[in-house]
Amino acid sequence: MAQGMIEIDLDLCKDCRLCMSVCPQRLIEPSDRLNQKGYRFAQFIDRSAKKEGKKCTGCALCAIVCPEIAIEVYRG
Ligand code: SF4
Ligand code: SF4
Repeated sequence: MAQGMIEIDLDLCKDCRLCMSVCPQRLIEPSDRLNQKGYRFAQFIDRSAKKEGKKCTGCALCAIVCPEIAIEVYRG
């Protein structure tokens, strides 16, 4: 299966949580911290090192739905 990773620009995030709702691997969660605008920004959970079975496939669904264009997807 293809592997990927994402980067989220935390200061663009407005905590709408659309990315979390569409990720088939459930790899995006709200942070415990706030960004400069006071939102609990989305964060990518990289489980690839822990062998928990859920890995980013680079499907880009998260980036497509993000209204703030805060997510970059990398495939490798
Ligand atoms: S690219 Fe796909 S698998 Fe990876 S974090 Fe985004 S929605 Fe999830
Ligand atoms: S879809 Fe974009 S703005 Fe919404 S929570 Fe995810 S990263 Fe933040």
